[in-house]
Amino acid sequence: MRFWIGIIAMAGVLLAQDGAALERKNRDNRHLAVILLGPPGAGKGTHAGRLSHYLGIPHISTGELFRENIRNENPIGKTAKSYIDQGNLVPDAVVLEMLFARTALPDCKDGYILDGFPRTVTQAKALDQRISKTHQLIALNFNTPDEFLVDRITGRLACKECAKIYHKRYDPPKQANICDSCEGALYQRSDDKEDILRQRLAVYRKESQPLIDFYAAKKNVLRQIDGRNAKEQVFHDVLDALPQVALLAK
Ligand code: AMP
Repeated sequence: MRFWIGIIAMAGVLLAQDGAALERKNRDNRHLAVILLGPPGAGKGTHAGRLSHYLGIPHISTGELFRENIRNENPIGKTAKSYIDQGNLVPDAVVLEMLFARTALPDCKDGYILDGFPRTVTQAKALDQRISKTHQLIALNFNTPDEFLVDRITGRLACKECAKIYHKRYDPPKQANICDSCEGALYQRSDDKEDILRQRLAVYRKESQPLIDFYAAKKNVLRQIDGRNAKEQVFHDVLDALPQVALLAK
């Protein structure tokens, strides 16, 4: 009799643990907000795209949203263009309105990956205010020194259709100027020219430290990624830096 009581009690404990794990897994996965911090060329776009497929949550790049608005010649695009062309940041109010309209769409209900946002402490605080109760926030900081970035950026090509990123020498498409994934046309971004890139890097260096300090002051949010490493290693490190529950949910 005692033996059977023991078995039933043990099964109960195991079931309870399993239930708790499942519940936690669902909750964390539904509300995961991954932020990719790092200078232009650190690999944020590449890894955000990959991570998005891996976790099944959308990749939202504020730079890409701006480029879409510029192509559509709408008011946001018109405002943003002059800042982007000079390598400067678009004003916070414009960025926040555009981003929060995007994250309110139904595909964001299970969480999302933010690439290129936030870029200022004001943006980080606004995001915090909006999602701190509903999302688990993880900030991955892609540490990459300038000497790696210029070469990566000036050789970068992007797909006009799906935004997939290539490099003329290190990661060329199979067919010249055609995207391997969707056959869209590849192009070089106008702000990826060296003189504008230098300004973007200067802006990044000025704005980034307070942003990193902001996330470092939060408990268990900031994770460091060595952006100098090869692509496969970096992706491995990115997965390692995410909460286990997000990966289990796949
Ligand atoms: P990216 O594609 O992330 O390199 O962004 C391209 C350009 O868009 C930047 O150089 C900025 O001018 C603008 N931009 C993108 N995201 C932001 C943001 N969060 N805050 C301000 N400007 C941004």
